[in-house]
Amino acid sequence: MPVPWPGMRCPYCGADDTRVVDSRPVEGGGAIRRRRSCETCEQRFTTYERREPALMVRKRDGRLEAFDPAKVRAGMERALADGGTDSDALDTAVARIEAFVEEHGPEITSVEIGRQVLVELRSMDEVAYLRFASVYKDFAGASDFSREMQSLEEPRD
Ligand SMILES: [Zn+2]
Repeated sequence: MPVPWPGMRCPYCGADDTRVVDSRPVEGGGAIRRRRSCETCEQRFTTYERREPALMVRKRDGRLEAFDPAKVRAGMERALADGGTDSDALDTAVARIEAFVEEHGPEITSVEIGRQVLVELRSMDEVAYLRFASVYKDFAGASDFSREMQSLEEPRD
């Protein structure tokens, strides 16, 4: 039994019952090229599957490391330690930060991520926000920090 697979829509007739007739790695393995055939009109077309660039974080000391949402979450959990914030709200906040990193990546600085964490914490828990802000001050540098705080203090819409 063939496994049901969401079909790529045929660009010629719009049918979605297309199948892969050939599949091979290209671009040194960075992409997969697939020849597809439409069961309805029998036209053939090509699709490419590509790796997303890995999301990297530039640390304050210049080192690069892979972006890890679990680390962001752990940092927020530490700040929220006695806040009793529900984990759904935390998941949502981490997902928003992850989306921010995807949008501004593939390379982003740890300071930018810290700023997004502050934005999220501010709306979740005032104490956690202030606690994280004191950590953030250490890795953003004092002058960056006061500038960042000023921009965060600007009225929200
Ligand atoms: Zn077709």
